[in-house]
Amino acid sequence: MTRDPRYDILFESVRIGPVEAPNRFYQVPHCNGMGLLRPRMVAEMRGIKAEGGWGVVCTEYCSIHPSSDDLPQPYASLWNQADIKTQALMTEKVHEYGALAGVELWAGGAGSANLMTREVALGVDSMPNVGGNPFQTRAMDRQDIRNLRRWHRDAALRARDAGFDIVYVYATHAYLLAHFLSPVHNRRTDEYGGSVENRVRLVRELIEETKDAVGDTCAVAVRMAADDGTGTAEQPVSEDRREMFNILAELPDLWDVNVFNYAHEMGVSRFVQEGSLEKTMQYVKSVTSKPVVTVGRFTSPDTMVSQIRRGIVDFIGAARPSIADPFLPRKIDEGRTEDIRECIGCNICYSGDSLGVPIRCTQNPTMGEEWRRGWHPERIQPKSSDATVLVVGAGPAGLEATRALGQRGYKLMLAEASTELGGRVAQECRLPGLAEWGRVIDYRVQQIQTMPNVDIFLDNHLDAEDALSIGADHIVIATGSKWRADGFGRYHAKPCPDLGPAEQVFTPNDIFMGRLPEGRAIVFDDDHYYMGPVLAEALVAQGVEVCFVTPENLVSAWGVMTDEQYQTQQRLVQLGVQIITAHGLDEFDGGKARLSCVYSDRSRVVKADAVVLVTARTPVDGLYREISGQLESADAESVPTLRKIGDCDAPAIIAAAVYAGHRYARELETDVAQTVDVRHDKLSDPD
Ligand code: ADP
Ligand code: SF4
Repeated sequence: MTRDPRYDILFESVRIGPVEAPNRFYQVPHCNGMGLLRPRMVAEMRGIKAEGGWGVVCTEYCSIHPSSDDLPQPYASLWNQADIKTQALMTEKVHEYGALAGVELWAGGAGSANLMTREVALGVDSMPNVGGNPFQTRAMDRQDIRNLRRWHRDAALRARDAGFDIVYVYATHAYLLAHFLSPVHNRRTDEYGGSVENRVRLVRELIEETKDAVGDTCAVAVRMAADDGTGTAEQPVSEDRREMFNILAELPDLWDVNVFNYAHEMGVSRFVQEGSLEKTMQYVKSVTSKPVVTVGRFTSPDTMVSQIRRGIVDFIGAARPSIADPFLPRKIDEGRTEDIRECIGCNICYSGDSLGVPIRCTQNPTMGEEWRRGWHPERIQPKSSDATVLVVGAGPAGLEATRALGQRGYKLMLAEASTELGGRVAQECRLPGLAEWGRVIDYRVQQIQTMPNVDIFLDNHLDAEDALSIGADHIVIATGSKWRADGFGRYHAKPCPDLGPAEQVFTPNDIFMGRLPEGRAIVFDDDHYYMGPVLAEALVAQGVEVCFVTPENLVSAWGVMTDEQYQTQQRLVQLGVQIITAHGLDEFDGGKARLSCVYSDRSRVVKADAVVLVTARTPVDGLYREISGQLESADAESVPTLRKIGDCDAPAIIAAAVYAGHRYARELETDVAQTVDVRHDKLSDPD
């Protein structure tokens, strides 16, 4: 297929100082939970982005010196000769496909606690660590600033030697340079504080010195927020910040513009829509003649074209869309836009970095597994035989298993009890703000529908006899899970007998089916992620008075990992939901509930007409156990293989179900053992 000419503009080359990007697709720097600990995993992942058509592929934040150390979040580093070799792994992979490689040189300031290096963190002032660690920075004196400038210059030279084409001065995200720019944090009285000229001085010096060091062969980019957090909703950009952009406008070769509020820039789709930075950053192009890039979770080529035609940006910046679909540019180029695996804005990718483990993605199960398991997002090994496969259950696990097995060429039957595809995702994407999650279904159904080797049977609830009578060579059970109604979870380690009249006790499944409480309901959230708060919001919209109770200290405590906790709690506060943290639900008699403090023996009684229990799920594995039992007594020669995957195996997040489906498909009839003995990183291999 050929490219739609409307999208030609996206494939124009663009000059960035001394280098030229082959197109306008720009993977901005993004963390990945691999960094300096797992450089071959990063290199392979970045290389696949380049193969997928991203014209510029950048690193994550790359420390210039041990005084910027962010472990347990794995950043990249360019401290010494050995790091040059490590970073060259990435640049070589990226260059293989004709893309430019960019590096985001990073000085942490109060944003780095230096837990590994134990260096004293250097700050614009003596100020507390941004991440909440009980440390303060040393206020940098003139010698510290001279040292920093030297470290930055040296790191830029190493970056050039490692093969990078674009070198960043990174002046945002609450790290050192952002604090120098800030009218709030910069209280210095020397030539680096006070006036706009003074606060911008260090960034200006670093741009000039980086250009001087490597500017003949490398482009110099600046990443900086369009606003500084002091504006209003109507006028987000202060005069102070505009003046800074005016001063620096022509100095770098490229502007990578973000916004002050990270939860906005990186917002989950529940709170932030595609292209939402535009209002704040659009003025930047009018103050500079240099190319501008920004992000906005862009997945629609029409939106991308509009951004460029309207003069908002020159490059389409992306982190998450490039994670969900590393081949997004190639698919547009080849006229295959319907094949794009669109990011759903869930931020599971971000949780990898938060937790210091390799990145994973709900939509793209191969993300982070490119090197470790050798998985490619677009290619998969062909089938090993003419065997047939029965997939039972069309949730994310069953759909992905079907899609990937179909891609391998197997003949498949997908049986689903309900009248629609998607399982839990079909239910959850109807909840407030979660519509984009439906893309998990859309992508897979779209792909499966083009496969002549896949037959779908809706409205087909199978029992063991049905499943075995089909005569498939392989049966994979993906029948999901159901929320429990007995209170069992983290707070109650065993079912709780005192959660009174069944007709006044609800689970998320009841709400999905339209069975709603009336009057005043307690949402008891012992799950600590999105389900409790989203249901609370759904109930408020239905006129239910909600009291939200959690044994945690925060609403959606795990939402910290996906950077949505703050907005989640804020939303409930705004909706007028009563929030009771650090309490468990011990009793409910149909009229009142007893809540116990998790720190003391104290309890309180609150009025309630209903309770909604968001505690734990029960695997729906009856079919698996039934078939398994029948196979045990059957003739070993003729029995199909049997596996269970996804939530019916172990209830988890949607990303885990997609991954389980994908892994099953990859490994069926291959000699890959069901083992965890996969490569960690080649650099640590003994050979
Ligand atoms: P997962 O997240 O593991 O993919 P889901 O709960 O999203 O699981 O989806 C499981 C799907 O399996 C649901 O759509 C459900 O209707 C279907 N299902 C459950 N039991 C059967 C069965 N016996 N026969 C066919 N489909 C089933
Ligand atoms: Fe998008 Fe979610 Fe994948 Fe991140 S994990 S890239 S937010 S789909």
